[in-house]
Amino acid sequence: MGAFDTATGRRSILKGLGALAVGASLPARAQQMLANPGEELHAQPHLPGKGAWVDLARALKGALVLPDDPFFGDYSRPNNLRYATRPAAVARCSTADDVMACLSWAKKTGTRFSVRSGGHNYAGYSTTHGLLIDMSPMAGVKLVDEKRGLVRISGGTVNSLVYKALERLGRTVTHGRCDGVGAAGFLLGGGIGFNMRLLGIGSDLMRETELVLADGTLVNASADADKDLLWACQGGAGGNFGVNTSFTLETFPVTTVAVFEVHWSLKRDRLEQVLFDLLHRLQGAPDGFGSKISVTVPSRQARAAGTGITISAMGQAHAGIDVPQLFGPLWDEAVKDKYEPSAPYWQAQDILAEETFPYYYREQSTFLRTSDLTLEMVASMLAFADAMPGTCMASAFKFFQVGGAVNNLQPGDTAFVHRGYDWLFSSEVNWWTLKDPPSLVQENLAWQQRFYDDVRARAKGVGAYQNFPDASLKNWQRDYYGENYAKLRAVKTQVDPKSLFTYGQGIQPV
Ligand SMILES: Cc1cc2nc3c(=O)[nH]c(=O)nc-3n(C[C@H](O)[C@H](O)[C@H](O)COP(=O)(O)OP(=O)(O)OC[C@H]3O[C@@H](n4cnc5c(N)ncnc54)[C@H](O)[C@@H]3O)c2cc1C
Repeated sequence: MGAFDTATGRRSILKGLGALAVGASLPARAQQMLANPGEELHAQPHLPGKGAWVDLARALKGALVLPDDPFFGDYSRPNNLRYATRPAAVARCSTADDVMACLSWAKKTGTRFSVRSGGHNYAGYSTTHGLLIDMSPMAGVKLVDEKRGLVRISGGTVNSLVYKALERLGRTVTHGRCDGVGAAGFLLGGGIGFNMRLLGIGSDLMRETELVLADGTLVNASADADKDLLWACQGGAGGNFGVNTSFTLETFPVTTVAVFEVHWSLKRDRLEQVLFDLLHRLQGAPDGFGSKISVTVPSRQARAAGTGITISAMGQAHAGIDVPQLFGPLWDEAVKDKYEPSAPYWQAQDILAEETFPYYYREQSTFLRTSDLTLEMVASMLAFADAMPGTCMASAFKFFQVGGAVNNLQPGDTAFVHRGYDWLFSSEVNWWTLKDPPSLVQENLAWQQRFYDDVRARAKGVGAYQNFPDASLKNWQRDYYGENYAKLRAVKTQVDPKSLFTYGQGIQPV
């Protein structure tokens, strides 16, 4: 997520503003409600008295961090500031016993809680006014079976640590580009990345996962024991079945890859054909090729200064794939921002890495087939981009290339139902409340909704990616989980019949 606006250098400007972050003080109530329509889900809960918090602190091996701690803001701030709800306390869990202590305490005191690893949930589903169960101290990666290439990742590990550990092992999985995303949220909701057409999505590689369940027991779900629970954790999304304290993944050896990031800065009337050609050409790429195509709408300010919409593509190709040949004539027209024909795998990932910081955004996604992306449809998408009111930040819509190994499994093989598509379409609107007034934010969100509805209706978009949750989706059960929702409810009923784990779009027991 988060397109970079080269014209304004928005990341560097806003990084400075980020230091003032909103965790400290949100603007007026009206603005807060506008920015956070799901707020009622987190309504101020009953909070226990001081003595109960002292009990919890004593029961934990990790620290219980209270609002007067100088680092409280850092521990409690989510990536999407739209949902910067302040918890009552943060329990920094360092063991599965700590997680058990938190759950037992929350049940005893009737305190609401949320579980967080990387804090990158788009819709604020790891925020709470109650107890924030922070898994990030439970971080680590260990090779547990050299022959089968199995690694065990602790439940609170963030991507950057996973990458460094895999680099040392000369191996990889399907992973994203953002260092701060938690492995837990990424894997539980699916997990897309440039390797997915070769290896499947992240959760397809999950062989075991250990969880603390609602009744306080620790179970290890695998193909041999609790296999429906393992199935549910392969795409059934975080925060639904328990607190996952580790994941065992199958990994694959890596050597070198080609990486690229290119853009087309052309006259407006050429963009439609370029986007259409890109989507149709790249669809036929071998499975070792992964890409993301973005259409970036510059900030209002940059547009006023004459900067136009750009189309860009980034990705990687495993050995033996000729990137320029795949792009054909489009390659000659492209400005090559980054192109490395052959680099050691993890060095190449540093070139593609995405640096992010907390700000305000909404993302809306759906799955598409190339055959539905006619020139007329592509032209209509660009016309929508022209009509975007815009904010002080660049925004974008993107096409993540799926297909290949993602489609080797059937929709019911794991909880990740979205098989058989070519592209994951996603539209993002980004803003900064200090510069973008609520009415302008509202205009942009209304524009985004019209755009999204149009793409779903006319390009026959199906479903939505559960790892890009959108609190405004009405039929999220069908969109995230399709035909798998019934089985997910059955698993939920078995492991959490009273919905101890719940959130705005949480799976409900029968
Ligand atoms: C900048 C950015 C880049 C991204 N890039 C990608 C990408 O390349 N590919 C991709 O697929 N997705 C990507 N995403 C989406 C991301 O995978 C999801 O938002 C993911 O759920 C975030 O995981 P997290 O642990 O950081 O989030 P959190 O907010 O901590 O958690 C997400 C959900 O999982 C629950 N949860 C957290 N930890 C646990 C646990 N240990 N056990 C059980 N439940 C838990 C939370 O309660 C919450 O419901 C990106 C998101 C952002 C903001």
